[in-house]
Amino acid sequence: MTPERIPIQVIECAKTFPDGTRALLPANLDIEAGEVLALLGPSGCGKTTLLRLIAGLETADAGSRILFASQDVTAQPAEKRGVGMVFQSYALFPQMTVEANIGYGLKIRGVPVAERRKIVGELIDLVRLSGLEKKRAPELSGGQRQRVALARAVAVRPQVLLLDEPLAALDAKLKESLRDELAELLRRLGITAVHVTHDQQEALAIADRLAVMHAGAIVQVGDGESLYRNPAHPFVAQFLGRVNRISRDAAQRDRGVVRMGGHDIECPDHLKSQHDLLIRPEDIQVGRPASDTVHARVLRRTFLGDRVQLQLETEGQVPIMAELPGSTPFRVGDAVGICIDPSRFLAAQEA
Ligand code: ATP
Repeated sequence: MTPERIPIQVIECAKTFPDGTRALLPANLDIEAGEVLALLGPSGCGKTTLLRLIAGLETADAGSRILFASQDVTAQPAEKRGVGMVFQSYALFPQMTVEANIGYGLKIRGVPVAERRKIVGELIDLVRLSGLEKKRAPELSGGQRQRVALARAVAVRPQVLLLDEPLAALDAKLKESLRDELAELLRRLGITAVHVTHDQQEALAIADRLAVMHAGAIVQVGDGESLYRNPAHPFVAQFLGRVNRISRDAAQRDRGVVRMGGHDIECPDHLKSQHDLLIRPEDIQVGRPASDTVHARVLRRTFLGDRVQLQLETEGQVPIMAELPGSTPFRVGDAVGICIDPSRFLAAQEA
């Protein structure tokens, strides 16, 4: 089953609900043919609204445009757009068997029985449900239901697959194994897909690129690694991983240094005007106090298996979190010295 791969363009697309809620500010997004793009952000940031606009389930504000393979579909209803959807609830028909659920869309489109059987059989192999064809939805595990929902969504050969929090109903352990399975399946399908989630780990595992959303706006688009290393906005730095935020007063900014724990850290030129300095916990080095280190004390020590997290407080009472791989001899109450390499400060500007 090789689907047609199409690109999607979202151009100045906005949504204001009748009650005046501006759920989506004018957004622009280029989704490449065959890529899996995650819309990632906290609850209420507008992810589902954007997904529903792409699906054609909501009408966008005047001036918005959505293109599928360069064709303007903005005025087209959902059923004309050729999209398959998978929701958190799966929405399977409980009285139907696995194969009937998967073949449902084909049946209502009048696809002849023989062809329907062939397509359903292929999909059952693809999503690894062989042997469960005659089971009904209530007899399946959460993961199996999710695979049926996915197979059903792609059975009618949509041009685009839209997934709205498809793993949100599962417990943490199952979610983790299923997100890898879903990532694998989407690769095999090769279809252009948009995946909505508020879970950064899920977005990183499943998507080729992430569009991070905040308060109705797309803040940054990129692959996980570049967003983590080069967040364009403090929100992106905080949402993707943990980050220390060191606020500076104007006097320090003028001098181009960060004064911490009796020690001045030279600030890189391109960050001199930045109000707060951001640095990842793994970029904070912790050792014994020395004349050239920032003096601090360990307030809390948390063992996290592969690393140890230290909550520190500098002499100037600036809280700093450090994460050290493996183990560390430092305990609560110990005096430590922190080294900060200024090149590790993130260049994330407040909009
Ligand atoms: P969640 O992860 O909680 O689903 P989300 O990022 O998907 O959140 P949306 O569902 O897109 O967010 O909602 C964005 C904003 O629009 C929210 O403030 C929400 O309350 C509002 N909203 C959504 N649907 C409607 C509607 N039909 N009428 C009015 N406001 C709405």
